[in-house]
Amino acid sequence: MVGHRATETQRRREREKKRRAIHAISPFLPLSFSVALWLCGSVAIHPVKIISAKFIAAAQSPESFLKDRRPEIVFMGRSNVGKSSLINSLLGIKGLARTSSTPGRTQSINFFLINDEFYFVDLPGYGYAKTSKENRRAWGKLIEKYLAERQQLVLSILIVDARHEPSPLDLQMKSWLQHSGIPYLVVSTKVDKLSSNEKRKSRERAEQILETDRVIPYSSLTGEGAKHIWNEIRASITKQ
Ligand code: GDP
Repeated sequence: MVGHRATETQRRREREKKRRAIHAISPFLPLSFSVALWLCGSVAIHPVKIISAKFIAAAQSPESFLKDRRPEIVFMGRSNVGKSSLINSLLGIKGLARTSSTPGRTQSINFFLINDEFYFVDLPGYGYAKTSKENRRAWGKLIEKYLAERQQLVLSILIVDARHEPSPLDLQMKSWLQHSGIPYLVVSTKVDKLSSNEKRKSRERAEQILETDRVIPYSSLTGEGAKHIWNEIRASITKQ
């Protein structure tokens, strides 16, 4: 314990020494270099620094999918699961993907260009009970076409609500991704609403039902899990 405290003090002294050294030379550095130093610090915490995020297109048919070849990360889950909140909170931008209280309304695939480098692709939510048969069929066709043919798709993020059992539809989506050889991970969101014991049980249940060990607990309120998800995104883009 004493040893632990000693190393903590040493580390604190080291940090203070570095801070003073940067402070001492900073008046002689050009502003851009000082900003770069600060940015390096931020990047160390956040594996992908968000410089820009733009809404590019809403595709309602396969003909309007983008012709661009940049890598795509797709987000999917049942209506109201917290998909828009996940996208917005990962990017640190409120209101980019719409958070809506009328699920099942958007039937388009939305493309957001991030850092001019890769896309976040927002699929319309599935499983909304009040959607007509016709709507459901159109949804199925659009999604199937996207997932089956998109060569630039490098990662699928399947979102489930940590408070509820994943549904048969969630399992169907996950199995479909797995059999199609599309890399995926499961994000179990809204964990801020659970105690740590409930959180552990919820994760075990999701892993068991979805037959996977790729479940990341997440909260769009606290940002818990964000670093893990960004690491996965970064890895999938660089692997490409
Ligand atoms: P979408 O329909 O899947 O895009 O879901 P939304 O992002 O619109 O979220 C649905 C509701 O869940 C909204 O009221 C959000 O504020 C809420 N929500 C989403 N994510 C979280 C979360 O991580 N924690 C909490 N406490 N609420 C969340």
